[in-house]
Amino acid sequence: MPTRYIPTIGLEVHVQLKTRSKMFCSCAVEYGAEPNSNTCPVCLGYPGAMPVMNRQALEMTALSGLMLGCRVPDICKFDRKNYFYPDMPKNYQITQFDEPICVGGGVPLHDFAYPKDAQKTIAQPGKVVQLVRIHLEEDVAKSTHFEASSGIDFNRAGTPLMEIVSEPDLCSPEEAFAYLTSLQQILVYGGVSDADMEKGQLRCDCNVSVRPEGQAELGTKIEIKNMNSISGVRRALAYEIERQMAALDRGETLVQSTRRWDDASGQTFQMRVKESSHDYRYFPEPDLLPVDTRVFMDAVRSRRPELPGEKRDRFVKDFGVTEYDANVLASESALADYFDAAAKGSKKPKAIANWVINDLLSALGAAGKTIGESPVAADALDELVGLIEAGQISGKQGKEVFAAMFETGARAGQVVEERGLKQESDTGALEALCLQAIEANPKAVAEYRAGKMQSINFLKGQVMKLSQGKANPGVVGEILAAKLAS
Ligand code: ZN
Ligand code: MN
Repeated sequence: MPTRYIPTIGLEVHVQLKTRSKMFCSCAVEYGAEPNSNTCPVCLGYPGAMPVMNRQALEMTALSGLMLGCRVPDICKFDRKNYFYPDMPKNYQITQFDEPICVGGGVPLHDFAYPKDAQKTIAQPGKVVQLVRIHLEEDVAKSTHFEASSGIDFNRAGTPLMEIVSEPDLCSPEEAFAYLTSLQQILVYGGVSDADMEKGQLRCDCNVSVRPEGQAELGTKIEIKNMNSISGVRRALAYEIERQMAALDRGETLVQSTRRWDDASGQTFQMRVKESSHDYRYFPEPDLLPVDTRVFMDAVRSRRPELPGEKRDRFVKDFGVTEYDANVLASESALADYFDAAAKGSKKPKAIANWVINDLLSALGAAGKTIGESPVAADALDELVGLIEAGQISGKQGKEVFAAMFETGARAGQVVEERGLKQESDTGALEALCLQAIEANPKAVAEYRAGKMQSINFLKGQVMKLSQGKANPGVVGEILAAKLAS
């Protein structure tokens, strides 16, 4: 019988914080600025330059910790991690070693965070991946390699970087996908980062090993570095797990090493073998005092937003929308706010959800607009839904009204008025039209009276035609049934 293997995955995620200035100096954090324009003696690593802590970065990291259920100890401190790095002239990185700002916590993997094709086969629904810690450090400069030379841009040097370390608690590439999706959503919600992997705002290193079933001890840990998309992480892990299992099946021994993922060929390649563990000679950063987090924790607590998972649950509970719809609506905080505003006073929050998901999102997509730029305000959408529910316009007319509202920004009532779209519900007027249709179609009437019930639909269609589409089909149906029964 072939050996069965258990994969074990741990993720280290580096996140660029959305602060205005760098971690230890007042240089601006700016994406796409002229290379080396945002620099000073501190972030260029001049000897004797003194670091000054960025409070906003500390608060954002603490907020991330709160959102992820971490404990924030009263005191944290910074340390020097010594190693030579061409993009880091000081030859040490200021980071946190044994007293990080956040400890423990976890990332919840909700069903819709999994890849679409894996949402029906979730191994552990409701799983929360445990975190080891979150610490704060400074980023290094960015090097770019040209044909015959390399360039270094120090704009990134010293920008605040948050490192989120998970326990080796993930069991599949699909869980890693869900972890990153969920984490990204929470960080964006909290406004701490834009967390765009393609822009390098969220960078992920994966540790992955496999062990034969029945073996308690973890297998040889292999690291895959520098992935730039969530789907890339999933594919790299799937490839790597297969590769390790096949190697063990062939009787080979795996060595602890670092590999790189090549997205084009869909393979991982060995970069270096870890010979001995690094000695970073950590020691407390002598130029920075330990931080008393109690000074800002009250303010940070007051800034904790309602999280995506909490919003999803509330939308289902309070507005009666499906879990799927709640997930779409809660996926982005601006969209969730819009839905909240539209649904709050509405009698038909479920209808609002349908209009937002089916009509508004596609109209916005086609127009290249964000929800914040929607020409249809939340209360205007509620008004439109109200007109349809009250039978003043038909659902079909509603679509026409919506399109006009989206194009011109006009209110629903105004569009209905201007286009003369009002649905005819006046029974007296409709009765006359029904009688007219009955008289003109004796054959359908006879069929209906002989038991062919669907003939009433033909008559209904005739009345709609006579009314030029303005009759309320529900009322017409009732009048016809009453007339034909007598
Ligand atoms: Zn600087
Ligand atoms: Mn790091």
